[in-house]
Amino acid sequence: MRIDLHTHSAASDGTDPPAGLMRVAADAGLDVVALTDHDTTEGWDAAAAALPSGLTLVRGAELSCAAPDGRGGSRTVHLLGYLFDPDSEVVRAEQRRLRERRRARLRVMAEWMAADGLPVDPDAVLAGLADDVPAGRPHLAMALVRAGLVATVDEAFASYLSSAGRYHVRRQDTPVAEAISMVADAGGVTVLAHPFAATRGRPVDAGVLAELAGIGLVGVEVDHPDHPPETRRRLHGLAAELGLLATGSSDYHGGNKRNRIGQDRTAPAVYEALVERASGAKVIQG
Ligand code: AMP
Ligand code: FE
Ligand code: FE
Ligand code: ZN
Repeated sequence: MRIDLHTHSAASDGTDPPAGLMRVAADAGLDVVALTDHDTTEGWDAAAAALPSGLTLVRGAELSCAAPDGRGGSRTVHLLGYLFDPDSEVVRAEQRRLRERRRARLRVMAEWMAADGLPVDPDAVLAGLADDVPAGRPHLAMALVRAGLVATVDEAFASYLSSAGRYHVRRQDTPVAEAISMVADAGGVTVLAHPFAATRGRPVDAGVLAELAGIGLVGVEVDHPDHPPETRRRLHGLAAELGLLATGSSDYHGGNKRNRIGQDRTAPAVYEALVERASGAKVIQG
């Protein structure tokens, strides 16, 4: 069985629409594919509706979370949540809270710009956003383009919106411990994504990983394109020590990354153990 438990569609930052992604997965010879868009389950229905026969779909999401960095500060980590009920009250309440925090953060950034005399109207920026859209820097970038301050969104990100710039306000992501219990309460299982990816800054502190294992984290993504062989060996050892399931996946993003679908995969026994522990949503057989 060929099993890939981490892919992105155009519902987040992949390039294949969810239905097209299912076709790509089947054509690549996968038996099981998980759809894990960043912070959204929007692609679930379209993927399920387009499932080719012989392919099994695991519905999930990759949640951006805040975790201790092991040095007294905080860092972003990605938590894969599988087979949770997206309509559960815990999940809905957290999504509402995140949207409110995102709007408040975007308003502060816009207000700082306005206070500096830039032609940005915080009310207008927010008024143009539907309630269910997660407000983010891309929206402010478009406002800066409209105001003629920059020519392109890229230019806005490189200047006014840079995380090193004077107007940047950090996002307030869900603390990873809360996200782990939220997904568990919604009947799902959690796997920490690419914790030792050197391309994303320092590796997650091993002590933090042990803590998360103690509060309900089910697995850790070991075989990932951003983990070199030596890192995989070390992480396999750590997973065994901590009683975590070790998964493998491609983190496919269509044309937005070089990762080929199915290039790293999960062992069937690990997949079955994950599914066994989930009750919030079912795997769907095409
Ligand atoms: P935020 O979550 O509000 O900090 O904004 C980050 C989002 O902006 C991410 O979803 C990125 O995909 C997007 N982003 C980052 N850099 C760029 C860029 N140069 N052009 C367009 N979008 C970007
Ligand atoms: Fe991504
Ligand atoms: Fe990620
Ligand atoms: Zn990902």
